[in-house]
Amino acid sequence: MNAIPLNLPTRRGLYYGGEWHAPKTNRYLQSKSPSTGELLGEIADGTSDDAEAVIAAAQQGFRTWRDVPPLERAKILREAGALIRKHGDELALIDSADGGNPFHEMRSDAAKAAGQFDFFAGLVTEMKGDSIPMGPGVVNFTTREPLGVVARIVAFNHPFMFTAAKAAAPLAAGNSVIMKPPEVASLSAIRLAEIIGHLFPAGVFNVAIGGREMGAALSTHPDIAMVTLIGSVPTGRAIMKAASETLKPLLFELGGKNALIAFPDADPDEVASAVIGGMNFTWCGQSCGSTSRAFIHESIYAAVVEKLPKHVAKYRPGLPTDPATTMGAIVSREQYEKVLRYIDVAKADGAKLLLGGKRPDDPKLAEGNFVEPTVFVDVNQTMRIANEEVFGPILSVLPWSDEKQMLRDVNAVEYGLTCSIWTNDLKAAHRAAAGVEAGFVWVNEVAKHFLGTPFGGYKQSGIGREECLSELLAFTREKNIHVRFAG
Ligand code: NAD
Repeated sequence: MNAIPLNLPTRRGLYYGGEWHAPKTNRYLQSKSPSTGELLGEIADGTSDDAEAVIAAAQQGFRTWRDVPPLERAKILREAGALIRKHGDELALIDSADGGNPFHEMRSDAAKAAGQFDFFAGLVTEMKGDSIPMGPGVVNFTTREPLGVVARIVAFNHPFMFTAAKAAAPLAAGNSVIMKPPEVASLSAIRLAEIIGHLFPAGVFNVAIGGREMGAALSTHPDIAMVTLIGSVPTGRAIMKAASETLKPLLFELGGKNALIAFPDADPDEVASAVIGGMNFTWCGQSCGSTSRAFIHESIYAAVVEKLPKHVAKYRPGLPTDPATTMGAIVSREQYEKVLRYIDVAKADGAKLLLGGKRPDDPKLAEGNFVEPTVFVDVNQTMRIANEEVFGPILSVLPWSDEKQMLRDVNAVEYGLTCSIWTNDLKAAHRAAAGVEAGFVWVNEVAKHFLGTPFGGYKQSGIGREECLSELLAFTREKNIHVRFAG
């Protein structure tokens, strides 16, 4: 039994200008629990007319917020972080019911979001410029100014964490923000606005509820200074096209088909644990950073494969709102069906099913989008399962023998987000870290993010870096000022 009551937000509209608004066309979407199929109520389906109103309010908000001294802005951000911490369990439970991820994991998402408010609050005085020597009687210096209204469009896999945490950097830099949560899991974003909205001057923090039409309107509008996305590559392409009309700067965190590489000297049990841990089965592999291709040297391949079932056994699909659950439900029926299709594709291509590959038998889970943690072995890089992002609980294990060929296979995909390397051979670790086309590399570690370090992708996995000082600076622009004192 869950001791924390599920408090769904009472509002279902859009939050802008410091107030709640019904969608102008009165269009709503149904919000359903992916684990039980239960209707959780309706949320606004905001259109381009709503986007106009949100943007106008955010422009007003920007005019106030840009003049609030940085340390004052920091104080308000810390208050937001404290309120998120205070309501962490409640927000986590909403995400579990609405998005399907286990409660205990969403609880840590809420703590991480609060941590990012604190982190960027601490960086407000790092929006520094330079002074450039010019000789006597002249001063030349640069300042950094906020951009204006920033739109941040986010994905469904960590709905609350993305909607909350991604507001922190642009706000710290003096921009107003419009957060666009994913339409399949928007309830925690609505609750966030109920909880922290009042801390900011009207129009500074706004939440635009809606689907693709809302996202497209924000990407196109001339009064949006910058648009960012956490989402898929096709959406990134659509936004880039839309934003090109007004040459908006972009910050994209997109998909991944990431590799884990184990060298011959690595300990098979440690590798097996990392291979499974790197899949993020807790939230059904729905993570851009999941290492969904495990390249294991042939000399330890059999020993690693033999140990995989023991590590997979930790993940048992269950109702996400139960604090004991270790693996949740897939966010939507559409995504669930995509996962099942990829299981068939992998089998048809000749991959060998080692574990899972089907719905769990538990009758309590009959109405939800549940799939067992699924492991294919003897995969090779020509198979579709090794090239396409599933964004689901499917792991591919590939044997390798020749290092150069293995690195070519690792780099053969259009993505380049993360890579995890397992070896105690310093030279091999360094060769592989330098050779992989990925923006974030672990050696003898997997799955973790470290606040303060730049997270982002190579190739089609993204543009720009987050969770670090460059995220803050991305929401500023430099101005050079040249002053002549001499007569
Ligand atoms: P998605 O691209 O379908 O949707 C993401 C957001 O974009 C949603 O809010 C959606 O409403 C909006 N959107 C959709 N079409 C749009 C358009 N034409 N114009 C503007 N906005 C539009 O992605 P998803 O299915 O929610 O999430 C899964 C994807 O996100 C995966 O590819 C995953 O790898 C990626 N992701 C990346 C990271 C990262 O940090 N690199 C993190 C999480 C998820």
